[in-house]
Amino acid sequence: MTNYKPKNMLVTGGAGFIGANFIRHALAHEPKINIINLDLLTYAGSLKNLENLSAPERYHFVQGDIADNALIKQIMQQHEIDTIVHFAAESHVDRSISLPIEFVKTNLLGTFVLLEAAKSFWLDTKKWDAQRCRFHHISTDEVYGALTPECPGFTESRAYQPRSPYSASKAGSDHLVQAYHHTYRLPITISNCSNNYGPYQHAEKFIPTVIRSCLNWQAIPVYGNGKNIRDWLYVEDHCAGVMRIIKQGKIGEAYNIGGDNEWENIKIAEYICAVMDRLQPRSVSYTSLIQYVTDRPGHDFRYAIDARKIKMELGWQARESFISGMEKTIKYYLNN
Ligand code: NAD
Repeated sequence: MTNYKPKNMLVTGGAGFIGANFIRHALAHEPKINIINLDLLTYAGSLKNLENLSAPERYHFVQGDIADNALIKQIMQQHEIDTIVHFAAESHVDRSISLPIEFVKTNLLGTFVLLEAAKSFWLDTKKWDAQRCRFHHISTDEVYGALTPECPGFTESRAYQPRSPYSASKAGSDHLVQAYHHTYRLPITISNCSNNYGPYQHAEKFIPTVIRSCLNWQAIPVYGNGKNIRDWLYVEDHCAGVMRIIKQGKIGEAYNIGGDNEWENIKIAEYICAVMDRLQPRSVSYTSLIQYVTDRPGHDFRYAIDARKIKMELGWQARESFISGMEKTIKYYLNN
């Protein structure tokens, strides 16, 4: 276990769902860390996600593209960046099916530019060793492919088998990160997390879509027969896991993060409807809004994470139960 102390942290994609939650987590729990948030502010990012930060004096925003080589170099030097936490990505599987080029550009080329800048500044210019710098790459369980109902969850040693342009671009970026470690000794760590839920998620994703449909009394779209299974984790637990890996994770290693919390999509929709029936009752249950729609092409049946490594090696544990996390999440969307 290492004892790494990040100081000047470049967070990419910090105006998106998980990045914004991570910045809030870091400012609240890590008094010695300064944060530079680099975000292009695509349709998925919003500065509203970063209003009322707990320590604004330790936070700085730059609007720009992670694939902009000159900009990244300038940020690294100007802010003496020692830690990169790389969230920025095109992240919606449906969009990757209709517009895959954007996924290749940001997820692959963008990651490459960041790795090159880190290598050049940390290893070539500064000659820092692994105690002085760290590149943490945020990945997903989707790189492992799909599971049948009886299969055990993905472990870190499972071979990658990505099946959508999104997961293929994320898998490629993971391989690049590993390659920079093995070839150049860049000090990296990777986390592969299951589906996140919580505040600040973009409206296009499944849980916000269900909640928004309830609030607007509109059809709740559920793909196929609703039986696809995902493992859900409250976003704050993911952020705490990422920080734990950055500070204590073994260099060159990947860690799975998951909630041991598998749900069929239809059961999630029904669960949210039941909570809405309690919080904002109407004469007819919200479940009457559920409608099955044509399935996503190549829709992976099941993802499940085996998170024993991060639990046993780093002592990480999810703190939020699904019931309390969903209650917080639904109340957040009701108030916003
Ligand atoms: P998001 O789509 O909500 O946010 C992505 C952010 O990246 C946005 O703010 C966007 O403006 C920014 N961005 C996009 N392209 C950029 C570019 N070229 N340069 C700079 N900024 C750019 O995504 P999210 O759900 O917060 O996911 C963050 C990361 O976590 C991604 O890498 C994703 O693959 C991974 N992940 C997400 C989940 C999940 O359930 N959401 C689960 C596991 C892993």
